[in-house]
This record gives sequence, C-alpha cells and structure tokens, in this order.
Amino acid sequence: MGLMAQTLPSILKRLLKLPTAPFHEYHVRAEIEAILKDCPHVKLKHDKFGNLLATYKNGKRTSKPTWVLCSHMDHPAFVYDEDEGWEFLGGSTTPEMETAIKNGLRKARGSIGVWNFPVKVTNSRIEAAACDDLVGCAIIVMTLLELERLGIQTTVHAAFTRAEEVGWLGAWHLAQNWPFGKDAVFVSIETSRPVNGAVMGDGPMVRVGDRVSVFDSEAVAVLTTTAKEQAIRVQRCLLDAGACEATAVQAAGVRSVGISIPLGNYHNIGLQRQIAPEFVMMDDVKALIDLLKALVATKHDGIGERSIRERVELRMAQHAAHYEAGTKLFQ
Ligand SMILES: [Zn+2]
Repeated sequence: MGLMAQTLPSILKRLLKLPTAPFHEYHVRAEIEAILKDCPHVKLKHDKFGNLLATYKNGKRTSKPTWVLCSHMDHPAFVYDEDEGWEFLGGSTTPEMETAIKNGLRKARGSIGVWNFPVKVTNSRIEAAACDDLVGCAIIVMTLLELERLGIQTTVHAAFTRAEEVGWLGAWHLAQNWPFGKDAVFVSIETSRPVNGAVMGDGPMVRVGDRVSVFDSEAVAVLTTTAKEQAIRVQRCLLDAGACEATAVQAAGVRSVGISIPLGNYHNIGLQRQIAPEFVMMDDVKALIDLLKALVATKHDGIGERSIRERVELRMAQHAAHYEAGTKLFQ
C-alpha cells in the first residue's frame, strides 16, 4: 500500500483492533513498523528493552528544539500464564470486572485477554477498548506520514514504548539510555481523563504537569505559542488525575512535557463503574496532528527566559517617569 493510501481512519482502525497488554506489545510494534517501513526518510530500530524508535530526517534543517514524540504501546489487560492463569496488569481488578468476565466480555487473543469491544471510527468520534494509548501511537504515525507526504525538511524522533501501565518501564529505560542528544525535548503523547476545567472536544490538552511533576516551562510555552500561531485550539491545564511518561523521563534529567487527548471511560471504566469502551473525539486527534506537524517544522527562538527579560526591561523603561514620580512620595 502506498503512502497516499494511508488515511487517519485507516491507521486508527489498523492499530485499535490489535490486542495489547503490558509486556505484550508485539502486535502493535509490528503493525507500526509495517506502516512506516516504506517511508524513505524514517529509520526504525529497537532498543534493548524492546521499545520501537523512529527518526524522520529530511535535509539538514531541524526544529529548535529537536522533539522526541512518545506514546506507549500497551493498555491495561489480562495476560495468561501456564501456572497462574489470567493476571490483570496495569491496575487492580474490580467487582465490575468479575461481572464482565462472567458475562463473556473478556476475549482471549493468544496470551492477551482484552475487553471485547468493536472499533468504531466516525468523522466525529473514535471508540475502542484501548484508545489509551493506541490513539497516541496513531497520532505519531500519522504525523510522520504527513511529514513524508508533504516533504517537510526537518528532523524529529519518535519512541513507541512498552510497559507504561505498570510504571513507565519502557520510558525509564529510554531515558536511562537516552539516544537523542542532550538538547532534545521529550513529549509524551497520551490520552487522559479531562480534569480541572478541560473538556472533551475542546482540543488537545497541553499538560503543565501531572499528578507527580510539573513539566518544562519553556516547552509548554513553545507548544501553546505554536498552537496560537497556527490557530489550533488547545487547552492548557494541570492533568493531575494520573501520571504520564514525561514524569519518568524528566526524573532522569531530560527536559519533558506532555500533550493529552481528552479521553472518555478512562481505563475502560464507565460512568456506573461498568466495563466500557474508551472514546476520544476526532477533532481533538486531528488538531494534535496539525500541532505536531507545525511544531517539528518550526524554529522557536526568543521564548522563555530571554523574552521574559526583554518584556520586563521594556516595561521598566516605559514606566520610568511613573517610577520616579511615585518614589519621591515615599517617606
Ligand atoms: Zn493508561
């Protein structure tokens, strides 16, 4: 299949139908490789942990900073062991899960036991058992395909990690063996429950932090500035209902930030705590792909400390007369 035949709905369907679980991401990794293998500017490799790394390099131009887009390939699910039987990885089992299993909702696919929900992709909505984080994987894959199709000259890295749901194990390995240069900035691409004023359908959520950490101030500024320049609606917020891979990578000393797509039925828990498919809004997904394309194609100077200094010094000069007039009146 040629690159031109790859549409966002087809990529989403190809990835979302695959069974996955912590440590059992082989189906997802193989499919991402199959989709990207014909991209002339994308080089793929595995690291020692089994994460999939991709670098898109076209020409000598780079964005500033260089970005590392990351999503995880697993989702909470059951895995089968000869001695132990089915074990749930990525959370604890609930009475509602026991009920769902009794009702036949768990389906075995090899060693992986997943909730048996169909994948539904429409113009407005995407629904599947594991939007977290296969939607993130699809967003990065689609971004790379778009860069290729448009012939954008830049360099950007991507990481598709393993075993996020049991404590960011793949991301931790990546950060400890950081292959992307010391100035590269890590961006976790996730789906998350919208909290603190964020809502579904109002755009990707630029994450100032998660439950554990606050993220890189300058990277947050670059993301929101790029969104504004491109007239892409984003929501800037603290998503402290969970923690993402940016926390792990930042703790290892790499500048990090996160962007999340608002997610419904997080980790397959519905409004009545029943087992339910996860869902996201298509417009939020498209907006994030547009934002990432703009981000990796742009040099950003003058954001951060220097521009804040310039701003304050300008105000100091503008208000010099008021400062002197007021100061005289202090006793
Ligand atoms: Zn998750």
